[in-house]
Amino acid sequence: MTDLKTLTVDGLRQRLQNSARIAIVPHKSPDGDAIGSSLALFHFLRELKKEAYVMVEDAPPLFLSYLSGIETIMVYDTEPTQIQGLLPECDMIFCLDYSQFKRSGKLESYIRNSSAIKVMIDHHPNPEAGFDFYQHETASSSTCELIYEFMEQMSPGYNFSKPVAECLYTGLMTDTGCFRHALRPNTLFIAGKLLGSGISYEYIVSKIFDTNTPEKLGLIGFTLNHKLQVQTDFRTAIISLSFEESEKLGIKKGDTEGLVNYTLSIDNMVMGAFFHERDKGKTKVSLRSKGLFDVNLIAQKYFLGGGHRNAAGGEFNG
Ligand code: 5GP
Ligand code: MN
Repeated sequence: MTDLKTLTVDGLRQRLQNSARIAIVPHKSPDGDAIGSSLALFHFLRELKKEAYVMVEDAPPLFLSYLSGIETIMVYDTEPTQIQGLLPECDMIFCLDYSQFKRSGKLESYIRNSSAIKVMIDHHPNPEAGFDFYQHETASSSTCELIYEFMEQMSPGYNFSKPVAECLYTGLMTDTGCFRHALRPNTLFIAGKLLGSGISYEYIVSKIFDTNTPEKLGLIGFTLNHKLQVQTDFRTAIISLSFEESEKLGIKKGDTEGLVNYTLSIDNMVMGAFFHERDKGKTKVSLRSKGLFDVNLIAQKYFLGGGHRNAAGGEFNG
């Protein structure tokens, strides 16, 4: 836990009790941990009879459609006026799965200008000042792991409901690549506790990892066959896709999810990168590494981005 905290746990619990309307804002281009933690908190707050809303810049990926409550998420890109009206009316704002205000995207100015109590729950490095409460730990596997503890603190003895457990388990799974990395004993302890709520891990795993289409597998096959460069001397593997190639292959949002991980599955690689020109002249970068090699520093220095030591991203014009 960092010492940025300004309100005590008891102080925050008190403020939460007195709050009626609460906004939950995950980072833009939200992933399984961002949406899992946000919807888990949404269900938890609703169980406490609060008026809660999840608001995000752009729509969640389709593979998360099985999560209960996903249809209630307000997306700024499709309904800006609703969010513009509601966000300033909230007594409390939770920023989940990012440590810098700017990762909320187009919602940043509304959050900054709000007089609400601002809470950050996150595991990315370098938390920004300006929040009233921080549940922040870079050693945590995921934001969902931290939210689990947060709920226990806010509601001692809380009996985790099935919707809350399913959302939290989703974030644990996606941020650890199906419990392959970023693990600590606490991660598996919490996963075990969540399974005790009666959720089906087989159902969740199949929704996250087994929803490919033959077309998508064809796309992965093509990309690995023709677009993978291995630089053995640098222990680096790179995949790139130009805008024209994406158009030709008919790539849709979410189709390239997880593609970068193939780079590190090659024996002896330390760094993997995926460059994807999603829009003409604008390239999204995904970086992965093993061990102490820090791709977060590379993302920050060269690609206006960030992330974690072993998984980071950014973008550049070109
Ligand atoms: P991915 O490569 O899966 O998009 O992202 C991997 C990690 O890097 C995630 O933890 C994500 O939060 C972070 N990340 C990805 N893109 C960006 C970006 O543009 N800016 C920042 N600050 N972090 C990013
Ligand atoms: Mn996360």
